[in-house]
Amino acid sequence: MQLSQRVLKLAESETLAMSRRANELKEKGVDVINMSLGEPDFKTPDFIKRAAKEAIDKDFSYYTPVPGYKDLQTAICKKFKRDNGLDYQPNQIVTSTGAKQSIINVIMAIVNPGDEVILPAPYWVSYSEMVSLFEGKVVEASTGIETDFKITPALLEKYLNPKTKAFLFSSPCNPTGTTYTESELRALGEVFKKFPNVVIISDEIYEHINFQGKTFSLAAIPELYDRTVTVNGLSKGFAMTGWRLGYIGAPKAIADACVKIQGQFTSGACSITQRAAIAAMEMDPSEIAPMREAFRKRRDLIVSLFKEIPNVEINHPEGAFYLFPKVSWYFGKTDGKTVVKDAKDLCMWLLDEAKVALTPGGSFGAPDYFRLSYATSEDKITDACKRIKTALAKLH
Ligand code: PMP
Ligand code: GLU
Repeated sequence: MQLSQRVLKLAESETLAMSRRANELKEKGVDVINMSLGEPDFKTPDFIKRAAKEAIDKDFSYYTPVPGYKDLQTAICKKFKRDNGLDYQPNQIVTSTGAKQSIINVIMAIVNPGDEVILPAPYWVSYSEMVSLFEGKVVEASTGIETDFKITPALLEKYLNPKTKAFLFSSPCNPTGTTYTESELRALGEVFKKFPNVVIISDEIYEHINFQGKTFSLAAIPELYDRTVTVNGLSKGFAMTGWRLGYIGAPKAIADACVKIQGQFTSGACSITQRAAIAAMEMDPSEIAPMREAFRKRRDLIVSLFKEIPNVEINHPEGAFYLFPKVSWYFGKTDGKTVVKDAKDLCMWLLDEAKVALTPGGSFGAPDYFRLSYATSEDKITDACKRIKTALAKLH
């Protein structure tokens, strides 16, 4: 079968691939701790489930409007105002089958072949593949653990140029947990003001898992509002990964383009999920504070356990639920049988040796690191760190 060049060039999502490997081993009875996938282990809150059950009983079983039910768009506008200080009209809101689809819609809507899209690295796996799929040029603005993986205004200015179409980033960040403060974002905003044609795609899906306070939206800077797309979704903050709902608040032209694209691909998002999403949007954000506090405790635990592991370096993640240690000291080391060349080898070796599934950093644009998702119980975190420490001690 001759497949398209497009798909042959596309990499498989590394997060999903590692998780699939872990599940295959689990099915064979192997006691694997899966820390490869960024998925909250909490249950969807009951009031959201009730709204979904009610929607089924009330026969919300027909095609939905492509951008979403009007009352959901309105509820999202209210949420943006309440939580982010952003004024959007319902016709600037497009809901999709996950934030993943929201982002790819936007990329399809704005990127022409050869257009540059700046991704501060480390970045979330799918960003680079999405840009490449639509023949955009990925420009990696690499950052390291020394600056807590933050792009500085000076570095940003170095990468911006007349070919730059967009800047795409997440804060709190997947994979590093790095969370920009309002003043850091305002400082980046000053640089963007000098480049008025650049579209900013601000992925705020970890908004509610922010340990340092409120998540600031770049669209709240008036000069940037007209060219910023604010992305969000239900997967992380509401523990609803399988329900599949993402959304954007966007300049009207981009929102309309996304509706046109989605109308040819998938149509409107699932009717039941949309009814449940209204309940989620109307909820007082304080109701999910217990989930955030549980993540904070787990963050403290995993950071303290990783500090005990020799030859790894870590930052202090202030959001999301990932740890992204620098592990390049172990490259080229051996257990006497296998030489671990890079992060991918190290993750495969740890899967085999420690039975812990992790994701190598290369697919996040940071080959010296690997990622652990700590969206799992404290017992599992403790066990996994112990296993990793014991295994790594065998490499010399
Ligand atoms: N953006 C980031 C930064 C993510 O980590 C994820 C996780 N899957 C997504 C977008 C997509 O989320 P979903 O499609 O589940 O809404
Ligand atoms: N965003 C999650 C992760 O990075 C889920 C997997 C995915 O959608 O790629 O693990």
